[in-house]
Amino acid sequence: MSTTTTDLAALATALRAAIGADRVISDRQELRTYECDGLAQYKVVPALVALPADAAQCAAVVRACVAAGVPFVARGSGTGLSGGALPHADGVLIVTSRMRDILEVAPSDERAVVQPGVINLAVSRAANPHGWYYAPDPSSQQICSIGGNVAENSGGAHCLKYGFTTNHVTGVELVTPDGDRVRLGGRAPDAPGYDLLGAFVGSEGTLGIATEVIVRLTRLPESVRTLLAAFESTDQAGAATSAIIAAGVVPAAVEMMDALAISAAEAAVHCGYPAGAGAVLIVELDGPEPEVAAQFDQVERLCRDNRAFEIRIAVDDAERALFWKGRKSAFAAVGRISPDYIVQDGVIPRTALPEVLRRIGELSAERGIRVANVFHAGDGNLHPLVLFDASVDGQTERAEEVSGAILDLCVRHGGSITGEHGVGMDKAKYMPRMFTDDDLDTMQLLRCAFDPAGLANPGKVFPTPRLCGEVPGRRSGAHPAQEAGLAEVF
Ligand SMILES: Cc1cc2nc3c(=O)[nH]c(=O)nc-3n(C[C@H](O)[C@H](O)[C@H](O)COP(=O)(O)OP(=O)(O)OC[C@H]3O[C@@H](n4cnc5c(N)ncnc54)[C@H](O)[C@@H]3O)c2cc1C
Repeated sequence: MSTTTTDLAALATALRAAIGADRVISDRQELRTYECDGLAQYKVVPALVALPADAAQCAAVVRACVAAGVPFVARGSGTGLSGGALPHADGVLIVTSRMRDILEVAPSDERAVVQPGVINLAVSRAANPHGWYYAPDPSSQQICSIGGNVAENSGGAHCLKYGFTTNHVTGVELVTPDGDRVRLGGRAPDAPGYDLLGAFVGSEGTLGIATEVIVRLTRLPESVRTLLAAFESTDQAGAATSAIIAAGVVPAAVEMMDALAISAAEAAVHCGYPAGAGAVLIVELDGPEPEVAAQFDQVERLCRDNRAFEIRIAVDDAERALFWKGRKSAFAAVGRISPDYIVQDGVIPRTALPEVLRRIGELSAERGIRVANVFHAGDGNLHPLVLFDASVDGQTERAEEVSGAILDLCVRHGGSITGEHGVGMDKAKYMPRMFTDDDLDTMQLLRCAFDPAGLANPGKVFPTPRLCGEVPGRRSGAHPAQEAGLAEVF
């Protein structure tokens, strides 16, 4: 079923009538603003963009798409790093940036209720005066949206202690792929029946569009203490991380950067990390003052036992901010030392850190491609930054090989092809490295239960374009529905 220009013009008219002319974009130049997300190597200009103001308008847009048989893709702030919000060329991009109201902050319930376009950090800013905050803190938290966080089940530096987005969302209102408005969960901590809220969190826009989110608030800690430990090697820093966790201490965050990542951060933000470090750890503890004081001494000792050659303890908020500045700027800083780079995202059991980091070093040397490592060490969530120069013949291909080989390493060590950035467009091809055909078919059954017409973010997450109604199992050649001209492969 291919969508014609006339169909799209009729759809644009229907959308303008439903949500107002100023909320629909059809001009090609303006549409280009939305041609990619944070993974800029994929670019697709959408046919139309709709900017609904509320849930009712969002539902009206989805219903118009359904009536026209046109696919739609949700977009929050477009900071995703897996091409999840990449538009469909014949589809509507539904952008939530005009749905930015914080509807309620209710400390007595430990809850806040927000529209999906609300920026992550804005929730904490609204809750802070009451003594509360929103714990999941992706490094992009100054710009990414809560709706995007829910769709990606986003993590962050402090998710080691506090858990990922899924642990902080108790309810969602969504527009289903056929345009209905439904609620999953609520303010209570748990609901009976199948955990559909759990299925929705992390579904990357394939099960519907979140239009309201109830999040759990966390009390601001009484005390926060942060140290920076410098080691000669990532092996030593990895061993220190394992030792801290094995001792029963759960820091709020344990972040690692290797020598290349440190030198990039130094060049960009002059964070003043110890000279000559092969790796640094940032360890942050929070909680009641006596507990933090006792555990901080223990962490310091464990770092020294694992051959930290310098330990700095932040004396005030300004110094703590400086420690974090280097870490939080690292992704962007790498742009100073390499014209192009891939931000990879994989997970391994924490104890495999030294071995996997060593192997990444070997892969890098074998293929002549530099890799900088900056990551959530406490969670075993790696972010290798694979550096290359696209203008040099063959470097892009070699960088992609290294990047894929790193994911294979993660899977071989019992980990996963993504820790927090999602599968999106970019990693769909890697799904069979982790899942069997039967696994993927079972996941498709869930997707089809929400979206039998396959209109919500098609072409993402799944490696093969299986379609609802298809009998699960191996398939080769064109899908029968394709051959019959009833469906197309996105
Ligand atoms: C510098 C940088 C640092 C980052 N650091 C982290 C990090 O530490 N941890 C981490 O987890 N991620 C990180 N990210 C990735 C990214 O910021 C997160 O995935 C974030 O949650 C995406 O939010 P967004 O609003 O930009 O979503 P988008 O990029 O707009 O969309 C992401 C996905 O969510 C879907 N979506 C968006 N809104 C909705 C909605 N309302 N309902 C249903 N589906 C929706 C989209 O279709 C898409 O599949 C980082 C990105 C950058 C650029």
